[in-house]
Amino acid sequence: MKELSEVLRDWEPVIGLEIHTELTTLQTKMFCGCRLSHDDEPNTNVCPVCLGMPGALPVPNKAAIQSIVLAGLATNCDIMRHSMFYRKNYFYPDMAKNFQTTQGPIAFCMNGWLDLEVSGPGSRERADDVTRDEDGGYVARVGIERIHMEEDAAKMVHVGGVDGRIDGAEYSLIDYNRAGTPLIELVTKPDLRSPEEARLFMEKLRQIFLTLGISDCSMENGSMRCDGNVSLRRRGTERLGTKTELKNLNSFKSLHDGLEYEIRRQAEVLEEGGVVYQETRHWETSTRRTLVMRTKETADDYRFFPEPDLAPFDLPDAFVEEVRGRLPELPDARRDRYVATFGLRRADARQLAGDPAVAELFEQVMAQAKPELARTVANVIINDLTGVLNAAGQTFATASLTADQVRGLAELLASDAITSRQGREVAEAMVQTGEDPARIVDERGMRQVSDTSALAPIVDQVIAACPDQVAQYRGGNAKVIGYLIGQCMKASRGKGNPKLFNQLLAERMA
Ligand code: ADP
Ligand code: ZN
Ligand code: MG
Repeated sequence: MKELSEVLRDWEPVIGLEIHTELTTLQTKMFCGCRLSHDDEPNTNVCPVCLGMPGALPVPNKAAIQSIVLAGLATNCDIMRHSMFYRKNYFYPDMAKNFQTTQGPIAFCMNGWLDLEVSGPGSRERADDVTRDEDGGYVARVGIERIHMEEDAAKMVHVGGVDGRIDGAEYSLIDYNRAGTPLIELVTKPDLRSPEEARLFMEKLRQIFLTLGISDCSMENGSMRCDGNVSLRRRGTERLGTKTELKNLNSFKSLHDGLEYEIRRQAEVLEEGGVVYQETRHWETSTRRTLVMRTKETADDYRFFPEPDLAPFDLPDAFVEEVRGRLPELPDARRDRYVATFGLRRADARQLAGDPAVAELFEQVMAQAKPELARTVANVIINDLTGVLNAAGQTFATASLTADQVRGLAELLASDAITSRQGREVAEAMVQTGEDPARIVDERGMRQVSDTSALAPIVDQVIAACPDQVAQYRGGNAKVIGYLIGQCMKASRGKGNPKLFNQLLAERMA
């Protein structure tokens, strides 16, 4: 198979995503009063409605409809005042009723969009049909077809086979606690043009939903899941090619890599004169390839028809306005505010604003700190704490970091009391021990030496020991100073202030 970059010269990928999100923050299921919890003993949160007993009648969950309207407003959708539920019929033990209750041609939310800011290496995956900024980044508007309300199926566990698959399994277990969980499905228009754009869309949507507080959006635990539809067309042509649908894209990496593989596979098929079949394929992470799961089923196969047990919906204006009033500040607006108020770099502001737990921490810190400290605080959060927490298997939401600790660390860095490398060490200790940064610095004897009289002898010593580098510097190779600073840092056992070393070296070698 050809590399992606080579394929992209001749072919244009067309990608559309279908993203399912469980509304995990609600108290109860979609059509009954059963408790929403996946951690409970299996099959304890069940009742005649979600077990599909004959004669049991569904009652829609108002809070779930408020959540989907919130999702629609946050993604620029039209909120449809009149819609109804349908039955999607199928036989499988994960849905005891033998149908899933979902929405028909008209969903609660239709015709939305999100703007993606694409920058960095991934921005090269798109051909040059966009306006780029000086760094090669661009903005792409991605249409949203609809967001509809439906319900999740039960969870099945296949025992005895390979990889938990049903193939070759001895028996299967079913947990109906998940059956009837409120689920919203967002379908994008086929507007995405690269695996990177697909990944960014998913990331942005996740940030929005987290900010709205409608789900815990865990791709790992399956509360947010994504299917990727992808086809190729020759560059410069309009007509859409035949698509395949990819399943099991349950991480940002899988989403990107699965689509990348599939684009390369389709290009090979087409270039060899073959045809792409419309089929569902499984992304196998262990072998890094996609395998056929099933060929296309049509709407007819599901015998869709209006749900006779639920009255059509007419959402009153007051309902929609009440929900609109609850919209929090969204990540894009927050990003712009951080740039305007704190002078942060756009990419940094975007990263802070994207995660509500991070944004809250940043704002708590800034409520107590001088505005000039903002960039250092942003650096501490993005460059130090994010990595440290990841390595410790924690997140900003679960960690018990306080705003005082983060401010303390930023102040130590901003005043040159410690070096940035020491800053990382303090961040680590802070997460592990929960101690104050100033105390950690004192206990470990880390305070950076910023006293010229203490550093000057070290500088003289290094200059004497490195005549070759000094000559190169004087000969016009300014970069060599980096090496000399390194030698000074080493000689001071990491405690000397590198900025001061730089200054002293430059003075002495001038
Ligand atoms: P289906 O009939 O398979 O359900 P839909 O038209 O409902 O297909 O679209 C499902 C998803 O596939 C949407 O996200 C849509 O944007 C995307 N899609 C539709 N046609 C194509 C295509 N030719 N290539 C890539 N994606 C497509
Ligand atoms: Zn129930
Ligand atoms: Mg469809």
